[in-house]
Amino acid sequence: MKKTTKVIGAAIAAAAVGNAVHAAVYRPKKTQAAPLPEEKINTERYRKNLSKAVQFKTVSYRETERVDWKEFEKFHAFLDESYPLIRENLEKEIVPPANLLYRWKGSKPELKPIALLAHQDVVPISKGTEDDWTHAPFEGHDDGEFIWGRGTLDMKNHLIAVMESVEALLEDGFVPERDVYLLFGDNEEVVANAENGAHDLMETLKSRGIELDSVIDEGGAIIPVNVPGVLPDKYLVGIGVAEKGYSDIEIVCNGKGGHSSQPPKHNALGQLACAIKEIEDHQFKSSFNQLMKDLMDAVGRECTYPVRLITCNMPLLRPLILEVAKQIPFGACFVRTTTAVTMAQGSPAANVLPQRASAVVNFRAMPGTTKQDLVDHIRKVVKNKDLEINVLNSKEASKFSPTDSRTFKIIGDICKSLEPNSIIAPYLVMGGTDAYNYEPICDNIYRYAPFRVSTELLRCTHGTNERVPVACLETALVFFKNYIRRASAE
Ligand SMILES: [Zn+2]
Repeated sequence: MKKTTKVIGAAIAAAAVGNAVHAAVYRPKKTQAAPLPEEKINTERYRKNLSKAVQFKTVSYRETERVDWKEFEKFHAFLDESYPLIRENLEKEIVPPANLLYRWKGSKPELKPIALLAHQDVVPISKGTEDDWTHAPFEGHDDGEFIWGRGTLDMKNHLIAVMESVEALLEDGFVPERDVYLLFGDNEEVVANAENGAHDLMETLKSRGIELDSVIDEGGAIIPVNVPGVLPDKYLVGIGVAEKGYSDIEIVCNGKGGHSSQPPKHNALGQLACAIKEIEDHQFKSSFNQLMKDLMDAVGRECTYPVRLITCNMPLLRPLILEVAKQIPFGACFVRTTTAVTMAQGSPAANVLPQRASAVVNFRAMPGTTKQDLVDHIRKVVKNKDLEINVLNSKEASKFSPTDSRTFKIIGDICKSLEPNSIIAPYLVMGGTDAYNYEPICDNIYRYAPFRVSTELLRCTHGTNERVPVACLETALVFFKNYIRRASAE
């Protein structure tokens, strides 16, 4: 008995030592993050031009007749005026109604081109909130600390940074080896839109037999993280390698209607309520996907030593992490297809029984779950087989872009050079981007915006007081100049 205890004790001690050794060597993977060359950039001009860019009300709406296309025309004229070297050296086309396509010819036409994406449009200001803004949303006010206004984070900051960087590279006399395309869509903010500007841009390239080497678009940012004793003074750089799908699905129960003084036990609205409850009670299955694994691994390796005794054993903790993630809405969206019933309608009057009761369920699908899977799921979990199901708007989830590609490495290396305390991790983008549309002509699609912004500030995107810190603008220019130089090389 004593001998057995000794053996078990020795085994535990050996495992502990093994774990301690494992935790000690469980460190970030090596990158070739050499210091970046001294860069000629004009942050002052960028600041002024971003402030001006915000003043064009390039607001997009699902109802295209509401769009003021003149604002887009004025915005195009402003770009022409502000970037004379781009005007002289790049071919520019407008793909109707207002999508911009620039081509910077490379010296080696046999190589696949690269593309930098941005959208010109912004979301409208919600009615009644206009006066809540500290500075008017289309004024582009620069108070020295922030540039305020709609589009300063999503994503005129990014579009103007790309233009500034190309102009600066032209000033340097740089000639890319690959063709460089700048592709600026005009209606990205209209979700799951049948007439999508980015799609038309992609079709234009495709009709010319062009396949892209890589695409970079909005997505992840540089998020400061500071957990004293665990993860001190780090920056989380999320590179979006996939995006979730989007579907609005209407469910309908039909009834006889009639006067509310003679109601049946359950009318159409009551049946609909049952169906909603069944849908909410049957959430999609969660799974610890490869992206979550990579993200946890990248963060786990950067933790301080005693904490790494735990994080180096992440595979053992996965069931626990998954369980916690599903319990909180913010975590659940990373591990499963989410279900949100958002709109409902019964009869048009209080004393009338509904003939038709309907609700809209908004699904955000994980890659691999299709629109048809969502319809099948509703059919399966709702007992009422007379339920009518109509797909209103839908966009399938994207594919995964590789994390071992040349482009992913270039983005990671530049970020690490810019800030050695960066944790580079692939992640799943919750919203949609224009980049998704380029899947037919590109395998390496990345969603990353090189702006150092706190999560608190990111919450202003699409909301009141959207603003970008002036202090983060320089990094964006340095990133894009380096990115274009490296990505456009053979
Ligand atoms: Zn956007």
